[in-house]
Amino acid sequence: MKLKNLSFLVLIALASCGSPTASYNEYPEYTGSDLGVTYAPAQSFFRTWSPAAEEVQLAIYDAPLQTEPVASYSMQPDVQGTWVYTVTEDLIGKYYTFQIKQDGKWYDPAPGIWAKAVGVNGERAAIIDWSATNPEGWDADSRPVMNAFTDAVIYEVHMRDFTVSPTSGSHYPGKFLGLSERGTHSPEGLSTGLDHLLDLGITHVQILPSYDYGSIDETRLADNKYNWGYDPKNYNVPEGGYSTDPYNPVSRILEMKTMIRQLHQAGIRVIMDVVYNHTFVNEGSHLYLQSPGYFYRIKDDGTWGNGSGCGNETASERAMMRRYMVESVKYWVNEYHIDGFRFDLMGIHDIETMNAVRAALDEIDPSISIHGEGWAAGPCLIPEETQALKKNAPELRNIAVFSDDIRDALRGNWAEGNLGGFLTGNGCEEIVKFGVVGATAHPQIDFAQLAHSSAAYAASPSCVINYVSCHDDPCVVDKLLAINPDFTNEELQRMAKLAQTVVFTAQGVPFIYAGEEVLRDKKGVHNSFQSPDSVNEINWSNKAIYADYYAYIRNLIALRKAHPAFRMGNAGDVAKAVSFLPVQANLVAYTLNGTLANDTWSNIFVAYNGNTHDVTVDLPEGGWTAACYDGSIYPDGKGCYSKQITIPQVSAVVLFHK
Ligand code: CA
Repeated sequence: MKLKNLSFLVLIALASCGSPTASYNEYPEYTGSDLGVTYAPAQSFFRTWSPAAEEVQLAIYDAPLQTEPVASYSMQPDVQGTWVYTVTEDLIGKYYTFQIKQDGKWYDPAPGIWAKAVGVNGERAAIIDWSATNPEGWDADSRPVMNAFTDAVIYEVHMRDFTVSPTSGSHYPGKFLGLSERGTHSPEGLSTGLDHLLDLGITHVQILPSYDYGSIDETRLADNKYNWGYDPKNYNVPEGGYSTDPYNPVSRILEMKTMIRQLHQAGIRVIMDVVYNHTFVNEGSHLYLQSPGYFYRIKDDGTWGNGSGCGNETASERAMMRRYMVESVKYWVNEYHIDGFRFDLMGIHDIETMNAVRAALDEIDPSISIHGEGWAAGPCLIPEETQALKKNAPELRNIAVFSDDIRDALRGNWAEGNLGGFLTGNGCEEIVKFGVVGATAHPQIDFAQLAHSSAAYAASPSCVINYVSCHDDPCVVDKLLAINPDFTNEELQRMAKLAQTVVFTAQGVPFIYAGEEVLRDKKGVHNSFQSPDSVNEINWSNKAIYADYYAYIRNLIALRKAHPAFRMGNAGDVAKAVSFLPVQANLVAYTLNGTLANDTWSNIFVAYNGNTHDVTVDLPEGGWTAACYDGSIYPDGKGCYSKQITIPQVSAVVLFHK
């Protein structure tokens, strides 16, 4: 053992008399980039980080589920809390684990958190031929062009939801390959899969957790179990359940890259949902087995912080956890060509770490987007002012947060099942207005009337994600039916159209939950994270059944994309361009100065009527043409209105001057 590590262990022993958290600050940070395995045919070099370990064993296996190793080696302590070993034989096709002894106790073997390939169920790291993981044309793959994040239309999708129903016509139901398959169609002959996404006009897919997660047994995929995947196991490896062969470590990597390549070739960017804030299990997690305690916030009395509501919370403020997160997102960008990240429960992470992630991605490509949930699921063990919460968003640099403000204003509070919002005539006009200006500062908004915020939090419209549904909680149809089970299908469609019209005409970044464009539901199940496919799958026959609804959403997206006035990039411009009009209750109306945004429309009038009766409002001067009226979109305009307009019940209007 080298003196350097010996003296460090003495330090740890001394420090451990006090707070373990204080001693974690003494753990050295490893600044190299060779953690895990560095393979060459002649030799494999292993390095792992575990500063407080007394011994570390490297074990080699022939098979991913083999319990007895074919060889094991005592690793040597090395610089900055790491342990190293070189095996001088060709290990291609083999598997390995690290096992540490600390405070006299041997912990379970684990692949190490720097594993980049694993066997089935992610218990062993795999040594593979990386050249076999690249699909055809990978070297030529490039990020589709995106000028501004406000130009994005994000489509949130789960692999199984999208293609597991036979109505998708997919040859790869529930798999990575299903998301990028071409030429598939519903029983009614309408496009599904990637062709459907191109028809719809979205620009980004946001994939629900697709790193290796723990809740699905990859040896029993025939059971067709479902999970959202918010239970991380190996952060730097794709999920085996989405591959055609989880036993082959190359399969999941090649197939995820193939999916990304196909989406890129179709002009669609890929945002990955990342869940660094907690792990599936506590003491048995790969983070814990790497260096017990270090990667989590644990109180001095041994109780675990639980800001995730899942039993633990990670400690991004510690040097090696911060470094791990930064290196991990860089890895997904460099190896998999990921174009953006959605941080789950971002409020658990500290602001400094999130800004470090931003800075690292800026060095690669500033157009790589970052957004996240600006909240935690419970109290965290770091000071609130250091958390990447929505209210602290002004301190986050070019990182967007979800607007639960616009979501709940439209459909009603997520936690109160039968309480409605603007869509059902329950007011919330001021919060809808706050949504319209993309949560930026605006002189006509009374911030005292907001429910989830007390001030503007978006430095620019590109710092807020507008939505009415995502995978969490009920989707909009189910929420409306929870409010009133007697709503007719026609009423539901009117309300859902109104909701999406607000989302797609508001300043900010619009986001739609996969299948909402064909009026999906989840059979009333709100927290469907492990519900069966029958609840979560998208029934693509809906596309024919709700053809008018689908056409509306598709045309709404096209309308937004055609008009930069809805996609302004600067908060000051929004404050100047948006002017709210005094109108009656359950109504929001405003003009939008198109000239300021270089739009072909010089002035735009937008109104949302949440009343169950028609209302008539005064129009600003001049003659107006309708681009959206009573549940239909007219891209080239229709009719001529002046002085007044009658806005049909539960609907939106968009009028313009050339
Ligand atoms: Ca897995």
